[in-house]
Amino acid sequence: MNALIITDIQYDFLPGGALAVPRGDEIIPLLNRLQGHFDLVVATQDWHPQNHSSFASHHPGKKPLETMDLNGCEQVLWPDHCIQGSRGAQLAESLDVRRVQAVIRKGTDPDIDSYSAFYDNLHRRTTGLGGFLKDHGVDCVVITGLAGEYCVRYTAMDARQLGFETVLLADAARPICQRDYQAAIEQMTQAGVRVAMSSAFLETV
Ligand SMILES: [Zn+2]
Repeated sequence: MNALIITDIQYDFLPGGALAVPRGDEIIPLLNRLQGHFDLVVATQDWHPQNHSSFASHHPGKKPLETMDLNGCEQVLWPDHCIQGSRGAQLAESLDVRRVQAVIRKGTDPDIDSYSAFYDNLHRRTTGLGGFLKDHGVDCVVITGLAGEYCVRYTAMDARQLGFETVLLADAARPICQRDYQAAIEQMTQAGVRVAMSSAFLETV
């Protein structure tokens, strides 16, 4: 059994959004085509309370993209984004969700960020996704979405750590920064994540 994980296709991560990933919208038609080729489809949704500690606005004197220590974890500070219930937090309407069997909301704890769809950044709490996938007999997890060097990367690393065969679909993900993404791909590859193109899955029934 394989599962397609669609990471954070939300208005705030798309061009025009609060934390836009360049050309992030371009992958949506491909994500829609891919879904029919998987046994299980899961989407994730960054879902922050208004006072989330990853927001630069929460720390006087700090600006977006500065880093700081947050509970012993280095945290990049972001512009306010994906606030629960806001339009920016909504999954893009152009994303076909008819085959999405679960939407995993993450980043709900104001005190800690959660890039990965499996755990918060300190691995203190699980989102339940790992158990959900295992209960459904999934052994291969294929990761797509935004942003490549953050939520996609940490989701892939955790999937590997949980023992799933893990594939990053290179043409179905987009990063904020291409250079950081290259380093992230190297780290993922070293951890045993396979990098593939969507065509490998689109050809299968
Ligand atoms: Zn976030």
